[in-house]
Amino acid sequence: MSQFEPGKLINLSRLVHRVVAPNAGMMTGPGTNTYLIGNEEIAVIDPGPADPIHIDAIISAAESLNGTIKWVLCTHTHPDHSPGATPLCERTKAKAYGQVAPAEGMSQDQSFKPDHNWQDLEVLETDSFKIKAVYTPGHASNHWCYLLQNEAMLFTGDHIMNGSTVVIAPPDGNMSDYLNSLEKLKSEAIEHIAPGHGDLINTPLEVIEGTIQHRLMREDKTVQKLAEIQPANLDQLVKEVYDEVPIFLHELAKYSLTAHLDKLASDGKAEKIDDTWQLTSLSSSN
Ligand SMILES: [Zn+2]
Repeated sequence: MSQFEPGKLINLSRLVHRVVAPNAGMMTGPGTNTYLIGNEEIAVIDPGPADPIHIDAIISAAESLNGTIKWVLCTHTHPDHSPGATPLCERTKAKAYGQVAPAEGMSQDQSFKPDHNWQDLEVLETDSFKIKAVYTPGHASNHWCYLLQNEAMLFTGDHIMNGSTVVIAPPDGNMSDYLNSLEKLKSEAIEHIAPGHGDLINTPLEVIEGTIQHRLMREDKTVQKLAEIQPANLDQLVKEVYDEVPIFLHELAKYSLTAHLDKLASDGKAEKIDDTWQLTSLSSSN
């Protein structure tokens, strides 16, 4: 676990360095991964929470690389990823890149004020590296992945994690978007995934495909359980659809279950009447 000791600088490759924030927990695994890309001119990906100890650790890491932080890139604006951007940019004069928080949705970091809003597939090109921004809504409507083209390494924020399951919480989270964003990544040249939480992944295509299949399996199970117990409300459904998941996680699972049901509704396969869900005739015919 010393690899994930908060504040410790770990060199993952020639260009990629990691400092973990001191915010380990059920939703954050060993803590948020803050990445420093480059050695002289540095781009930080996901500065994490606005914790002065962590901001100090990022700045010391850059100093020990003899580098200057010029850019701060955020994958999305959940509270464990972007709030550090404002204090880090104030102290280093770096520019913030990303997308502002939506006004509604799960707890969002409204303090994030990017100097630059990405275009999809736009490339940040510096003297020593190129980073392509890939729009990947799903976990959050303003989620971006970053592809370090020099090393075919994709920084996935909370789109893909290592060791914990991504929660899709509507209305800002959207399961159809999430699956489309996973499909979209298959056309990129990726050899490694650097997630927002957990260690590097060196089998990117297997993990992307496995994540898609896992979600589709859950969708199928939702249809199957609905057919058995419909009409059913969320409390009834979560026990059936997530029956292999520990009960203490069911409150959390209800978010992703809602995302699956919303997708089924937009696909015309299920409908919600008052607080209960049922399949439509279309769904039973295929
Ligand atoms: Zn996160």
